[in-house]
Parts: sequence; structure tokens; C-alpha cells
Amino acid sequence: MSKVKVAINGYGTIGKRVADAVSLQDDMEVLGVTKTRPNFEARLANDRNYPLYGISKESVKSFEEEDLKTEGLSDSLLEAADIVVDCTPGKIGAKNKEALYIPKKLKAIYQGGEKASVGDTSFIAQVNYISSLGKDHIRVVSCNTTGLSRTLGALSSNFTIGNTRAFLVRRSADPRDSSKGPINAIIPDPLNVPSHHGPDVKTILPELNVITSAVKVPTTLMHLHSLMIELKDGTSGEDIKSLLEKTRRVKVLHSKEGFRSTAELIEYARDLGRSRYDLYENMIWEDSIIVKDSEAYLFQGIAQESIVVPENIDAIRAALELETDAEKSMDKTDKALSI
Ligand code: NAD
Repeated sequence: MSKVKVAINGYGTIGKRVADAVSLQDDMEVLGVTKTRPNFEARLANDRNYPLYGISKESVKSFEEEDLKTEGLSDSLLEAADIVVDCTPGKIGAKNKEALYIPKKLKAIYQGGEKASVGDTSFIAQVNYISSLGKDHIRVVSCNTTGLSRTLGALSSNFTIGNTRAFLVRRSADPRDSSKGPINAIIPDPLNVPSHHGPDVKTILPELNVITSAVKVPTTLMHLHSLMIELKDGTSGEDIKSLLEKTRRVKVLHSKEGFRSTAELIEYARDLGRSRYDLYENMIWEDSIIVKDSEAYLFQGIAQESIVVPENIDAIRAALELETDAEKSMDKTDKALSI
């Protein structure tokens, strides 16, 4: 079976993870990756044999000056690709869409830092794979929206739920990002309520009545969500636990096994031998799942750098209609990523 050729535009935190995940699939391959400047990640692309392209003549020249192997300008990469995964910083994807992808009639997957309007659809494989089939421009939603949509998608399709509230405790920066820290503060983000996450979840689950608020805290490793969900149909805590235990890309953990904080979750990812200690699953504490006065409560940990990676792989398959069965695509992705 011939593999589809995937270009990764922006080989940073998300781009390098998506490139590695693409290279693990049997129906797609990394045609090349782009970088703006010759840093350690450009060297990593060389080491992993991902053809490296510069986004400008200056980029290409700077690679050559640092003895990095380069295939030249990203234009030729995009010309030869079947699809591009845009992993550039927020808002650049929308510019690339107009300047590069539409003129080249190239299908594109975007990330959650873009406005929803960049995509013909926003995407979570478990919720809307089928309605995303064949779309030219698909936005994989942000890490927080992915985590919220997986859990709320499962609950809303199995139980009758009412008003939903989520409080997000967000990591202030990624581990690699030295420009935003250290900070010694808890920052309401944004200062006013609600935060943008609720409306973003509604791009995936439009029927849901969800309000969110968020703060940033001095940690780099994960987000933590506190969910409060009104139940309309007598659902019990046990019903919710058994549903979530069966839900794909969700892992229910037990504090008695020593999972008391995000610290142990990251240690667990290391113990599993996950590349870059990535966690692709929503990590939900079993003890936190309770129902009181027709309201469900739970805590979930979300590894911001990796949770969107399997979604990008499924979005490629949906856009190119490589697989028309959502479950089969997710089976393939999850097997390749050892989820
Ligand atoms: P990043 O800064 O780590 O990586 C972006 C890469 O794109 C860098 O290598 C940068 O040099 C390169 N780049 C910059 N301008 C470019 C251009 N014009 N053309 C090609 N490459 C260019 O950013 P990131 O964290 O990987 O974020 C990428 C996207 O993913 C954003 O939309 C972000 O909101 C979203 N996202 C990030 C996270 C996270 O935790 N980091 C989680 C989910 C979604």
C-alpha cells in the first residue's frame, strides 16, 4: 500500500510529536518538515531523517551555514505533499492557509491556536470523524478543548446532561519554554469569566451548555480540569466510572495506586517508556468521580503537548478519506502510539 505524503509546517513542540506519530503509521509518511532557524530541533530533524526545509531563502542559508542538511525552500515540499499539518504558532496557520495552502489546492490540518474559522470543521475523532471526511481544512482543537470534549462527548452521548461547568488550572508554559517563567503567581486567565474554552468546546459539541473559567499556575507539565456536570436522568457515579473506563483515549486512575497529582502521572508516562513522557489520554481520577444532588464531579489531568497528537493522525485520515470508519482509524492510531 502506498503511503500518503505528509508535510509538517512548523517543527516545534507539536510538530515534532506529529512527525514522529506520522512515521509510526503504515498508511502515511513524513515527506518533510519546515523550520525557521537552525536550532537543536532542526538538528533533530536531520538526525531522524526528516527532510528539512526552510520557510525562506534566509532560513535555508542559515541551515547551510550551520552544516545542517536541507532540501531547500518549503514551497517545493508543499508542492509535493498530499496534505500539510500546520504546527506553526497560533494565528500563523490562518495566514498560511490564504498564502500557501489554498493557492496550491493543498488540504491542511491546523492546531488549536487558530480561530475556529480557519477550518471547515473543528475536530475530535471520537465525536465528529465521519462529518469531517473529505474536508479540505480541519482544525484539531486545543489541548484543553480536546480533554473537555472527549469526556463531555462520552457523557453527553450516554446520559442526559444539563449545565456543565469546568474550572481549568492551566500550566503557565511548556517545559521547553524559558521565556515565560519562572513565575510565582496564580493568574486568572482571562481575568473575566467565562473563558474561551466553553465556546471552543461548543465547536465540537454544539448542544452542550458549558461555561468555563481558568487560572494559570507555576507548573509546566500538565493542565488539571475540575468538571461539574448537571445530570438529568438519575445517572450514578458508578455509571460514570464504568462508562469512562470503557471510553477510548481516557484512562481512569486510582489514588490508592499512588496517583495523587500530575507529578505521578508524568512519572507513570516515563515508566511506560512514552517518548518525551507524552500522555495521549485524558487522565481521570476515579476517586474524584462522584454524584451528589444530581451533579457529577470529576478531576482530569491533560498533558498539553501530547493529547492532540492522535487527533492529528485521525484528522489526516479523515481529510484524505484514507479510512471511512472512525473506529478503524482510531484503532490504527492508538495501536501505533501504544495507547
Ligand atoms: P512552538 O513554538 O513550539 O512551535 C512552532 C514552530 O513553528 C517553531 O519551530 C517555529 O520556529 C515554527 N514557525 C514559526 N513561524 C513559522 C512559519 N511562518 N512557518 C513555518 N514554521 C514556523 O509552538 P507549539 O507549542 O508547537 O504550537 C503550535 C500550535 O499548536 C499552536 O497553534 C498552539 O496553540 C497549538 N497547541 C500547542 C500546545 C502546546 O502545549 N504547546 C497544545 C495544543 C495545541
